[in-house]
Amino acid sequence: MKDLMLLNGNVYTMDPHLPKAEAVAKKDSKIIAVGKNSEIENLGRKNFKVMNLEGKTVIPGLVDCHAHFLSFAYSLKRVNLEGISSFGQVLSVIKSFSTKLKPDEWLVGGGWDKNILGDESIFTKEILDKVWPNGPALLQSKDHHLLWVNSKTLKAAGIEKTTQNPPGGRIEKDQLTREPTGILKENACSLVWEKVPRPSAADSKELLKESLKIANSYGLTAIHDLEDQEALILFQKLLENGDLSLRVCFWVPDQNLDSAIDLGITSGFGNENLRIGGVKLFSDGTLGSQTALMFEPYEGAKDNFGIEVTSQEELAQMVEKASRAGISVAIHSIGDKGVHQALNAIEGPLQQNIGENRLRHRIEHAQLLRPQDVERFGKLNVIASVQPVHAPSDKQIAEKYWGKRCRLAYAYKTLIKSGARITFGSDAPIETLDPLRGIHAAVCRQRVGEKESWYPEEKVSVAEAIFAYTQGASYASYEENLKGSIQVGKLADMVILSQDIFQINPEEIPDTKVECTILGGRMVFES
Ligand SMILES: [Zn+2]
Repeated sequence: MKDLMLLNGNVYTMDPHLPKAEAVAKKDSKIIAVGKNSEIENLGRKNFKVMNLEGKTVIPGLVDCHAHFLSFAYSLKRVNLEGISSFGQVLSVIKSFSTKLKPDEWLVGGGWDKNILGDESIFTKEILDKVWPNGPALLQSKDHHLLWVNSKTLKAAGIEKTTQNPPGGRIEKDQLTREPTGILKENACSLVWEKVPRPSAADSKELLKESLKIANSYGLTAIHDLEDQEALILFQKLLENGDLSLRVCFWVPDQNLDSAIDLGITSGFGNENLRIGGVKLFSDGTLGSQTALMFEPYEGAKDNFGIEVTSQEELAQMVEKASRAGISVAIHSIGDKGVHQALNAIEGPLQQNIGENRLRHRIEHAQLLRPQDVERFGKLNVIASVQPVHAPSDKQIAEKYWGKRCRLAYAYKTLIKSGARITFGSDAPIETLDPLRGIHAAVCRQRVGEKESWYPEEKVSVAEAIFAYTQGASYASYEENLKGSIQVGKLADMVILSQDIFQINPEEIPDTKVECTILGGRMVFES
């Protein structure tokens, strides 16, 4: 790998001591100089491959702090119902997809959104039996918290009239006949997922390689992945073969907390290519499925306060156990009460001085806050790990179910002002993996093409958004001294952009092209 010299650039370093530079040089995987053209040229051109940037913008490599990357890879090969606004269209897309399947094969996909398609009651097993009678079918809702399945799937999972709801889950049943309707919620979904045949390791690896290329083309150099052992095994295989073109910080699922502790794994274990972040826990469900845990009921449904996926007591015990073992937690919490209980669970061990203060706990999503909980993030040093595309994309449904409470929904600026650390991610495949779309959503609080901002007081600056995708994310993986800014001694992870996103009209951010992605000094994407 030849050493590289970038000259005539418009470099935003994200290093407060030298925020802007013209040139950067790297040796092997690290940055060795940042500064003016003349300073960098003094290193001697002949030892370097010289790239003239002609004024193009350079920023540190972007890090997606919340992705389900293997699911994203699988989604490339599954039926995609996203954005479809009529139920008839949903059925015909499934039907035409099914012509590619072998008889008896599982039909798998998702992306349907009951909030745009109509009431949940239209998603019945009978309708799905008509479209795919040959084999089992399961279709995940856009937010991944509901499953719509057919009769063959229910049979394969052994779900019938008398089957009890699993803890933290619900099997929807007909009020008269008690027959399962074909809708499963929250933890009930895993009864079915366990039965779905997984693609072979070879197929999964190919899909992952395709996904890595997509990620690099978006300017991503690292992700935080929240998945299970299958993903971790595949990442190790890719790394072994030199094919892992993203740095991965991996979060262990809640059911593996005890095994992680038994093995002696602690947060930060690994290296800059593949590292363990901690354990992912769940406090509640989602807004899309109205299962996020609420202090006050959902608007228009006075009995629905959401689902407590893990009880307050159990959540506190899990955080305490993890903290004692040197493991940070990332707690999925969406409703105001879900977030409140997650903060309580984190506060307990801190008050008793359990766990080293090196732990970097986080709350995933934090979509709705009670005013009195905002300051607790900063005080307890809890990272708010949020996904900005959710804000404009959820706004209609948030207003429908949370009404006036939306003032503190997706409240990124309020969190930053209160002293909270904040990181950005995508939640792919639920939303696009493209971080420029995330930056746009955080800065504009509107969908691409829309003119009106949703709660504009919660807009963040471009610098704050990039900070969340770089330095903020690197802090969350214990790597703030290793990456996240263009600084001497740090890894040479950089992105070259077609335009200066700090200067253009923010509405044009999604039109920006990634021209080149550099990972550890190596080009992993060139347009
Ligand atoms: Zn997620």
